[in-house]
Amino acid sequence: MTIAAARIEELCKLLTRMSYEYYVLDQPTIDDSVYDRLYRELQDLEDANPELITHDSPTQRVGAQPANAFSSVKHTIALYSLENAFNNVDLDKWQERWQRVEEGTATYICELKIDGNAMALTYENGLLVRGATRGDGTTGEDITSNVRTIRTIPLRLNVDNPPPVVEVRGEAFLPNHVFFRLNAQREAIGEEPFKNPRNAAAGTLRQLDSRKVSDRQLDFFAYTVYFPGSDLPEVHSQLTALEWLQNAGFRVNPNRENCADLQAVQHYCEKWNTDRHDLPYMTDGVVIKVNEFSLQEKLGFTQKFPRWAIAYKYPAEEAPTILESITFQVGRTGAITPVAELRPVELAGTTVSRATLHNADRLLELDLHLGDTVIVRKAGEIIPEVVTVLSELRQAGAIQCKLPTECPACHSIVVRPEGEAVTRCLNSSCPAIVRGSLTHWVSRGALDINSVGEKLIAQLLESGLVHSTADLYDLTAEQLMQLDRTGQKSAEKVVAAIAASVTQPWSRVLYGLGIRLVGSSNAVTLSEAFPTVELLANAQPEEISAIFSIGDEIARSVVQWFQIESNRLLIDRLRSSGLQLVGEDKPKEITVVTAITGKTFVVTGTLPTLKRDEVKDMIRKAGGKVTDSVSKKTDFLVVGEDAGSKLEKARSLNVAILSEAEFLELLF
Ligand code: NAD
Repeated sequence: MTIAAARIEELCKLLTRMSYEYYVLDQPTIDDSVYDRLYRELQDLEDANPELITHDSPTQRVGAQPANAFSSVKHTIALYSLENAFNNVDLDKWQERWQRVEEGTATYICELKIDGNAMALTYENGLLVRGATRGDGTTGEDITSNVRTIRTIPLRLNVDNPPPVVEVRGEAFLPNHVFFRLNAQREAIGEEPFKNPRNAAAGTLRQLDSRKVSDRQLDFFAYTVYFPGSDLPEVHSQLTALEWLQNAGFRVNPNRENCADLQAVQHYCEKWNTDRHDLPYMTDGVVIKVNEFSLQEKLGFTQKFPRWAIAYKYPAEEAPTILESITFQVGRTGAITPVAELRPVELAGTTVSRATLHNADRLLELDLHLGDTVIVRKAGEIIPEVVTVLSELRQAGAIQCKLPTECPACHSIVVRPEGEAVTRCLNSSCPAIVRGSLTHWVSRGALDINSVGEKLIAQLLESGLVHSTADLYDLTAEQLMQLDRTGQKSAEKVVAAIAASVTQPWSRVLYGLGIRLVGSSNAVTLSEAFPTVELLANAQPEEISAIFSIGDEIARSVVQWFQIESNRLLIDRLRSSGLQLVGEDKPKEITVVTAITGKTFVVTGTLPTLKRDEVKDMIRKAGGKVTDSVSKKTDFLVVGEDAGSKLEKARSLNVAILSEAEFLELLF
C-alpha cells in the first residue's frame, strides 16, 4: 500500500469515529478546528488520488445518520453542508471557482455563523407542523415537540395569506449564559460537561422529555426560506428572504451585511473576529452567500455544498501537525524542557513550528513517536503546547521519543528527583545554566543592567571572560574591547553599568541569584524577614516556611541552594565586589515590574505544588489583581486539576490559560 493510500485509510477511520462521537453521541473528543484540518488533508489527498476515494469516505456525506430515538423525516428540500474557507486566499479561490461556472460579479451577504444546530421547519397554511434536525441532509429526526418549546420560533407565521407550504431553515442554539449554567449543573451532579454550546444544543434537542428542553431556553435564528409551489417575486435575494423571515415573526440575526465585493467581505470577517467575543452566543465564523437568487440558481450545488455560499472559519487555536523531532532546552535552574519541533502550521494567525512539552512527565505521558500527528494549541499570548497525539495515525515502526540521559548542553548525567515532573542538569557550570543565570541577573526585575544583553552575554561566555555572575564585576574596559564590535566608549559604558548595579538593594540581589521558586515578590518577602544573607543562609526550613506566603517547597529550595558549596563561594565573591547582601533598616516599598503587574488573574483547580492562596498572594505582591470569576476583563486563568466551568468560560472568552509552571515562569 502506498503512503497516501495508508494515510487516506487511517484518516477515513479516524474522521468516521470523530463524526460518530460528534453527531451521534454529542460528545466530541477533539476541537472542531482539528477535525476541519484533518478533513481538508483527506480531501486534498483524495483530490490528488481520485482512484482512492471510497464510497464511505467522510468527504462523501453530509452530517450523520439520524439516531433511532425519534422518527425519521425525509426533507423535501435537502439541507447541505457548507464548504470551508480558512483564510482570504480560500475566499479568492472560491470566487474564482464560481465565476468559472457563471461569469460575472456578485454582491455578497455576510451573516455570522452561529455555532448551533441546523433545523428544518415546515409551515402549512401558516402553522408550524414539523421541526426536524438536519441528519444526513436528506433524512433528519422529527423533533417537533421539542422545537415547539423554542419561544423565538413562531407557531403561526405572522403573514396575511401565507403560501400553502413554507420551509424555514435556521440555527437552534444555546445562549452562553445558559450553556455555562447547564455545565455547572452537570458538573455538580458528576456528569461530563458539554464540550461547547453546539453539542449542548444538540443534546438538548434530542431530549425525549420536552419539558426539559423548555427549561433550557434554546434560541433560534432563521436564515433561509423556501416556498415550494409558490412564487413570491418580492423574495428574490438572500437579503429580501431575511426581511421576509423577520416580518413573519422569526428572530433574524441583526449583524448581517450586504458587501459589494470580496474586499468588503474580508473586512467584515476581520471585524467580527474580535467583536464576536462580545456577543451573548457563540459563533465560529461567517457564512458568505451570493445575494441574488437568480445567480444562486445558475451556480447550483456540488454533491455536498451550494456553490454560491461558503463558511469562513475563524483562525483555529488548535491544529494537527507532524512531529519532526524533539529537542531539549536547559533553563537557568537546570530544568530540561522537551520541545517539539513541528512541521509549520498556521495557528491563531501565526505560523507555529515549535511547541513546549513542559517536562519529562508530559513527554512520557504523551508517548510520542517521530512522525506522529500531534495536536498543538495556542491560546492567547501563551507559547504553543502539544495537547495530544493522534496515535491512530502513527506509522508502523515509528521511533519512540525518549528522555535524554545526559544534559544536551554539558553532557553531564541528568537527574529526576523523586516526585518531580522535571529532569534537571545539576552542573552549576553547565554553559546553558550559566547563560540563563546571567540573563536573569541582568534582567529588569533583578540587577537591571540593560547594557548587558543576550548578545554580549554570548560573547562573554564564548571568549571565556565570564564563567559566573560574579565574574561580571571583575571585567575591565580593555577586556571588553577585545570582543568583536566593542569600541572603547561602549566598553566603558558596560563597565560603568555593571559597577552601578552594586547599589541595588538586597531583595533584588536575592531575586537575581535565581533560586528556584524565589520570584521577585518572594525575594522581597524573604529579604524583609532575613535582612542579611547570613541569616537566610543559616535559616532552618521551618523558620523560612513560617513566613506567610512562603510554602514548604520554597523553603526547601532556599535551604538546598545555600547548601551548595559553589553557591556559597558565589556569595563571598559578590560580597567582595560590594553588592548589597544586607537590607536597609526600614525596608522601602520596591516596585518590581513583571509580566504580572497590572494584570487580572483568576486561580482555579488543584495546583501541583502551590496552594491557591499562595498563588493569589504571589500575584498581588507582583502588582497583579485577583478576582473570583472569569470575565472579559480577566487576563490570565491559572488552572490546576479538576478545574470546572471557569476553565470552559476562559476558553470561550479566549482568556490566556496558565499551568502552575507557566505561571511561575511568568512571575520569575
Ligand atoms: P459547518 O458547521 O462547517 O457549516 C454548515 C452549517 O453552518 C449549516 O448546516 C448550519 O447549521 C450552520 N450555519 C450557522 N449559521 C448559518 C448561516 N447564517 N447560514 C447558513 N448556515 C449557517 O458544517 P456541518 O456540515 O454542519 O458540520 C461539519 C462541521 O462539524 C465540521 O466543520 C466540524 O467543525 C464539525 N465536526 C466536528 C467533529 C469533532 O469531532 N469535533 C466531528 C465532525 C464534525
